[in-house]
Amino acid sequence: MSSNKTKSNETFYPGPSRNHLAAFPPKERWDDWTELDSRAWPKRVERHYSLVPTTCFNCESACGLLAYIDKVTGQVQKFEGNPEHPGSRGRNCAKGPATLNQVTDPDRILYPLKRTGKRGEGKWERVTWDQALDDIATRIRKAIVEDRRHEIMYHVGRPGEDGFTERILAAWGVDGHNSHTNICSSGSREGYQLWMGLDRPSPDHANAKVILLISAHLESGHYFNPHAQRVIDGKTNGAKLIVFDTRLSHTATHADYWVSPYPGSEPAILLAIANYIIQNNLYNREFVETWWNWREYLELVEGSNGKDFRAFEDALKDLYRQYTFEFAATESDVDAKVIEEIAKLVATAGSRFSSHNWRSAASGVSGGWSVARCLFMINALLGAIATEGGVYPNAWNKFVPRPIYMPPHPEMWNETTWPREYPLSMNEMSFLLPHLLLEGRAKVDVYFTRVYNPVWTNPDGFSWIEMLTDPKLIGCYIALTPTWNETAFFADYVLPMGVGSERHDLHSYETHDSQWLGFRQPVIKAVRQRAGEDVDDTREVNPGEVWEENEFWLELTWRIDPTGSLGIRQYAESKRLPATRLGIDEYYEWIFDNSVPGLPEKAAEEDLTPLEFMRRYGAFEVKRNIGPIFDQVVGDDELLDTREDYWGRVFSRAPKPAGPNIVPMPVPDGDAEGRRFAGVRVNGNVKRGFPTPSGRLEFFSRTLAEWGWPEFAIPTYFPSHVHPENLEKDETILISTFRLPVQIHTRSANSKWLDEIAHTNPLWIHPSHAATLGVKTGELVRVETEIGHFVVPAWVTEGIKPGIVACSHHMGRWKLRDDDGQRQMMATVKLDHNGTNWGLRRENGIAPYDSSDPDTLRIWWKDAGVHQNMTFPVHPDPISGMHCWHQVVKVHAAKPDDKPGDISVDTAKSREVYRKWLAMTRPADTYSPDRTRRPYWMLRPLKPAREYYKLPEENDDQ
Ligand code: SF4
Repeated sequence: MSSNKTKSNETFYPGPSRNHLAAFPPKERWDDWTELDSRAWPKRVERHYSLVPTTCFNCESACGLLAYIDKVTGQVQKFEGNPEHPGSRGRNCAKGPATLNQVTDPDRILYPLKRTGKRGEGKWERVTWDQALDDIATRIRKAIVEDRRHEIMYHVGRPGEDGFTERILAAWGVDGHNSHTNICSSGSREGYQLWMGLDRPSPDHANAKVILLISAHLESGHYFNPHAQRVIDGKTNGAKLIVFDTRLSHTATHADYWVSPYPGSEPAILLAIANYIIQNNLYNREFVETWWNWREYLELVEGSNGKDFRAFEDALKDLYRQYTFEFAATESDVDAKVIEEIAKLVATAGSRFSSHNWRSAASGVSGGWSVARCLFMINALLGAIATEGGVYPNAWNKFVPRPIYMPPHPEMWNETTWPREYPLSMNEMSFLLPHLLLEGRAKVDVYFTRVYNPVWTNPDGFSWIEMLTDPKLIGCYIALTPTWNETAFFADYVLPMGVGSERHDLHSYETHDSQWLGFRQPVIKAVRQRAGEDVDDTREVNPGEVWEENEFWLELTWRIDPTGSLGIRQYAESKRLPATRLGIDEYYEWIFDNSVPGLPEKAAEEDLTPLEFMRRYGAFEVKRNIGPIFDQVVGDDELLDTREDYWGRVFSRAPKPAGPNIVPMPVPDGDAEGRRFAGVRVNGNVKRGFPTPSGRLEFFSRTLAEWGWPEFAIPTYFPSHVHPENLEKDETILISTFRLPVQIHTRSANSKWLDEIAHTNPLWIHPSHAATLGVKTGELVRVETEIGHFVVPAWVTEGIKPGIVACSHHMGRWKLRDDDGQRQMMATVKLDHNGTNWGLRRENGIAPYDSSDPDTLRIWWKDAGVHQNMTFPVHPDPISGMHCWHQVVKVHAAKPDDKPGDISVDTAKSREVYRKWLAMTRPADTYSPDRTRRPYWMLRPLKPAREYYKLPEENDDQ
């Protein structure tokens, strides 16, 4: 509300404006928004706020936030939603407003720290930023000068930015990017990429007739709040919602059809739906004929004439005839009649079929990529691709502006992150790092983690501790983090970084059929700049000496090459004031002035510069209703000296059209004569097509066929590592891939509101299963994995399939010393270590404590859950590289000495499991059809220069 005077001079509060169901302060009043102080009630005490936008950093969705900055204290009073943000439209989940807890967390890290004792001993000294920067820069420079660039590694969890750090690594000439993606979403990404060349779907749920989710999208899926609100819009408009989830998620509770399949059987159900559509000729014949690469299938697999679409239709019927409802029912343990009903419903959707798979089953089982591939096949059959109510390729619904500098591709290939055994992996084989180093393949001299906590998040955390505590394997480990975490305890430097309201980032995500740009910013800096103050470095406004990564990276880059002799400094240099370091305001000013169509004009309407506009509103919608880019006719100006190949792919010598958006359409390979791929021939026209090798949707993956996996060249179903045929009688499956709606990964532990709501992760177990074990809710069970066990209380519930168990992975946070770490959600534990045998036992749970925040004396919860991931060995899928999270386990009533949270692991067994899965791969050395390490067309972060894709000849140095 904002106060005004009536004619009779009484104060009244006109209140917020309305946007759909929600209410927001109108943007005209963001400079002075007035609310009554609730604590002063019944007195009417006004508080005046400046409202400053930023974006949430508590998951990947990057929803808009509005910081309410008290004009008297100059501090943030609360965070609410930003109605000007096109993705989140003013709405947030509980984690958005809880950003405030992270700002005021009494346990947060405020100053740069350097280790003084042994790694993990907990002895630290405060150092200056200059000391830390100089030491790290010297080390990196030495590695570069000595051509040990492969020993520099940056390992990121949630990037939350637009590729800034990838460009920093490119500036250093280092192929050192490592990500968390292979423990997160590579499974589904691989399935989508095989079809359309892009690795994520952008479903238009709001306009769909039928929505099929293989994820818990109303509570925790990818881009979940923006998508969840559009799923509900769709339902409100009459869409039917189908949810596949073995566990009764909150999403499943909103479904018209909740299907609880046996884990890993999802592709069997999806192919039964596809088969129904195929056998009954309910597919979009024109779309399939035009856009599938069926000719390649007919000629290269069936050896027949690739011109007869009817022959392909006959082949399609034969290929999928086996996937009956009864077959799917046998595999999935879902009633055949229910599957049939769902198939009939899906077939009515036509081009208004929206679907999404992210993590969930695709991240749980070997071959999980097949879940997304078989799901997208239904869209491809119905022609529900880039249609209203259908699914868009993600890159068409996001906007990535051209940055001030684009350093060249690194001239090297890092085998530690991209080993030859996994030529088709979606991302870096990050979670194998300890195994690769421990078996002597490499060492890492400078290792950064950022928004990442692999000891806790990854499987097999004790192997990570073994690696991190060995200085011969990790020379110097730098943890960039706002808060303590299990991995940072083993660092050499812990450098404090800002939370979502203390840093800059740009982002754009596929929330709907639109391209928007969101701006995360340090809100105190923005409000002071609005008042005319000169604020440059975020350390001037952040608590303690908390900094932001972008300024840190620019400064580090400058110090690595202080004279510019290495050719690195130029990428951190001001254009405005040459020979000085690029400042963060200039960095964003350049982008907003030069790379965002429409923004300068829009800003000028309000007499603002583009940067001022973004600081004021926090987001800008570049374009909406993108439509089917694949169907666009390529203009004559893009066709120069063209050549058309046998499959109708058209290559051109015209340069790629210049445009600010560097992402919308990555293109497949050019031809051997140096032309670039321009499109595909369709009914006489050249159309843009898809960024796949064929330029069309790939029903048939020539890549899989040629790189050693011909049996999977078309969408198919095959038993996973947890298929019943791979289980002993007393074994069951543990689902560990879900998270609770109010908890995230590492950073939610410093959010007291979230911790109060959720602070435990019991084992979901069906009553029939619990009865056979003789356990009741709250009683302890021991869960045995391949490498050890954990102890956890049972939660007996009908919300899980009988015989399957489940445990959320967002709990079990721990610290090694009572006062050293985060105290609201990290239990103090004792680590036992003898050879390869490791144990972890809780010594002290959560307890109230005195701090700058009086609420910490009111902590009433004691539990912090169990860190189950430590007991999981690595399971790298031989194709996608995805860690297959589901575990084959034995569950028993606990033993008398067992305590909640106990962990026991033998890392020698971890090594055995690693080698077992490694043996399932088909390495590039043997299977590459062209002596390259990886198909060049496949997506890869920080792509090296093309010549480094070549496998070395036998006598080459690495
Ligand atoms: S969904 Fe929640 S946690 Fe994620 S960005 Fe939005 S508000 Fe933040």
